Amino acid sequence: MQEFDYDLFVIGAGSGGVRAARIAASHGARVAIAEEYRVGGTCVIRGCVPKKILVYASRFADDFEDAAGFGWSLERPKFDWPTLIAAKDNELARLEGAYRATLDKFHVELVMERATVSGPNEVKLAQSGRIVSAKIILIATGGRPNIDPKLPGIEHVITSNEAFHLKEMPRRVVIAGGGYIAVEFASIFNGLGADVTLIYRGGKILRGFDEDLRDALTAAMTKRGIRIVASQVFTKIEKTGGGLVGYSTTGEALTADAIMFAIGRSPNTAGLGLEAAGVKLDGEGAVVVDGASQSSVPSIYAVGDVTNRVNLTPVAIREGHAFADTVFGNKHWSVDYSTIPTAVFATPEIGTVGFTEHEARAQFGEVDIYKGSFRPMKAILAGRDERMLMKLIVERKSDRVVGVHVFGPDAAEIVQMAAIALRMGATKADFDQTMALHPSAGEELVTLREKWVAPGEAAG
Ligand code: FAD
Ligand code: NDP
Repeated sequence: MQEFDYDLFVIGAGSGGVRAARIAASHGARVAIAEEYRVGGTCVIRGCVPKKILVYASRFADDFEDAAGFGWSLERPKFDWPTLIAAKDNELARLEGAYRATLDKFHVELVMERATVSGPNEVKLAQSGRIVSAKIILIATGGRPNIDPKLPGIEHVITSNEAFHLKEMPRRVVIAGGGYIAVEFASIFNGLGADVTLIYRGGKILRGFDEDLRDALTAAMTKRGIRIVASQVFTKIEKTGGGLVGYSTTGEALTADAIMFAIGRSPNTAGLGLEAAGVKLDGEGAVVVDGASQSSVPSIYAVGDVTNRVNLTPVAIREGHAFADTVFGNKHWSVDYSTIPTAVFATPEIGTVGFTEHEARAQFGEVDIYKGSFRPMKAILAGRDERMLMKLIVERKSDRVVGVHVFGPDAAEIVQMAAIALRMGATKADFDQTMALHPSAGEELVTLREKWVAPGEAAG
């Protein structure tokens, strides 16, 4: 029998890699994991966690404003960016420590250097030059932000990676893109008091989300002072004495202290040696894998963003877990990609699970739509003119709820719970029979009774 240095060598200590390493080790495997930057990966170090911290910080602006309606009077609150960034960095250091402690507890060897694949069972460590062998190699290298490298002046822009480390809070921010990161950061900088413009190549932000959510968020962001420049991209960026100037397709000059690109992310496979080892990559550089996360080379697996399936942390974690249980624990299971809940942490936020109305009509033909739009209780006394939106999509034939879409405060929390019902195949009758929890916003989901009828459509 061939002897390997390790049973499993994981490249990338992010969400998917750390979970896979820990679970494989718990099944008795000898595991090492290489990380070139910081343990925890994108989510912990420069994604979900620092992003949510910035989201919380930005929302205090609303709280201070709203408090007056409830009898509070406050001095004009002041915000200090360096204090926030330092607090965020402390928390990330704590979390990184917790991740390291977990790896240690499970006797996973942590190698803090870049690793590349030099053969089906061989990994090369960049700094030490060491070559190690492993029975199984797991690629969990995540993704990296895209920019447009040919755009004149692109060297002046930042991506989300740098946004978390700015020395000063930019007073004027222009963000390119109309997806998760662009929209979330537009809200963050807006809440913190910056003048924000979003420049997006499409007609309406958040392509792929339910139209009602897209419309509601567009209107709310605009009302909050975020300018959305649709159907345009940058043609060049210049650095001037007065700041950065980005020129749009129509020639408009958008001046800013920071121009941020959030135009998607690409799988981190460049220079990894995968193709030479025979691993098939797709046109975007993602590792092509089967349902068990196995690549075209039987000893090499891949999980998480590097496979470009559904690029969310809980998905990467579950893929890593399924891989480790299946390969090292003799427990065979694979990830179910249906009904994945997701949130866009804009302000107000979006939570969504299941089919959009458009998708449901295409998939099921006849669907019933239930919609409610209301001013949340807190907004009334606060004098905040913002409405919450709840929408249920029901397959008419089976009465099954196939989509839940929420826009407004706590949408993410509400939808996480609704996702359980959807996964269990709950019908509209189940929703109706569920007792409301009063007073709450979520109760609207179990009290929606009137079918929404599109103009010109007969009620079913
Ligand atoms: P990663 O977590 O990216 O980990 C990959 C690791 O591999 C990194 O640490 C990297 O340094 C390391 N690495 C790469 N190449 C090598 C190499 N050759 N050698 C050694 N190490 C290497 N998802 C959500 O679900 N909710 C959110 O709210 C959310 N917010 C986000 C906000 C932002 C700004 C961003 C950018 C992403 C966000 N995501 C969110 C997505 C989420 O972060 C990713 O889906 C998740 O981190 C993917 O995990 P992963 O294990 O595939 O890769
Ligand atoms: P997204 O895929 O969400 O959005 C990319 C945006 O950039 C889209 O609006 C897209 O337009 C636009 N775009 C793409 N290419 C170009 C181009 N060449 N020029 C101009 N615009 C372009 O990517 P993000 O970078 O925002 O986020 C990456 C991923 O990270 C997300 O897809 C998500 O999986 C994950 N994430 C999850 C979060 C969460 O769970 N809350 C938060 C942040 C990230 P178009 O729509 O026309 O294609």
